[in-house]
Amino acid sequence: MFAAGAAASIFEMTPPIRGLALTDLRDTFGEIHDGHKHEATDIMEPRGTPLRAVVSGTIRKLFLSKPGGNTIYQFDDMGVYCYYYAHLDGYAEGLREGKRVERGEVIGFVGSTGNADTRSPHLHFAIAELGPDRLWWKGTAVDPYPFLVAAVNEGEVADDLLLLAAANEMPGGAQTYTASMGLKNAALFALIGTILLAVLLLAGFIRDLVSFVHGVVAAITLLTSGIHLLASLSVAVFFYVFHRSQP
Ligand SMILES: [Zn+2]
Repeated sequence: MFAAGAAASIFEMTPPIRGLALTDLRDTFGEIHDGHKHEATDIMEPRGTPLRAVVSGTIRKLFLSKPGGNTIYQFDDMGVYCYYYAHLDGYAEGLREGKRVERGEVIGFVGSTGNADTRSPHLHFAIAELGPDRLWWKGTAVDPYPFLVAAVNEGEVADDLLLLAAANEMPGGAQTYTASMGLKNAALFALIGTILLAVLLLAGFIRDLVSFVHGVVAAITLLTSGIHLLASLSVAVFFYVFHRSQP
């Protein structure tokens, strides 16, 4: 369903609103709004809150629509996904179709244009996977909710690392982030190593257990043979003595 590898800008999203929290997000993808499938996430924010590009890419279309009001259609660099922002109060100064924007750059402001209730300004955010024709008004809707959640979580990790970098007076949060990824990988390898060791130990234990059972069976067989031998000898001796005592 999702394009793989470097093309998947969807996995590198930054939140469209600075300081966005998980409690601000609700999965409204499957809801029916005004008789239509919603297929987007609504994020309630005060009017005029700066809106940021979730990924780097190009402003493909600035469109004034009846339901969406002031809208932005942004393509990612690979032209795989189209990011849609609606009900905007306005666009950032100098924003125009064909302009390249960076991830996190302010591109507009939250509002209630279009069919949004003026008393509850919000960002209507949608993602579409573009077809081979790469038309801004066409595409397959993707639920933005899990990707927004990931973006918020990622942002919190990044913020923590920046704070950590500041505390340690280390230059560059990015380097710290890389170091942290290294630590994560090391932890992962340690975990895999531990699991492998546990499996090997378990296999050894089972092998030893099997040997022990074999040993017990052999001992019992030996004992049984001994008893049989003794019994046979007893019978032989009995008959020998019996026959000898006969006249
Ligand atoms: Zn909406």
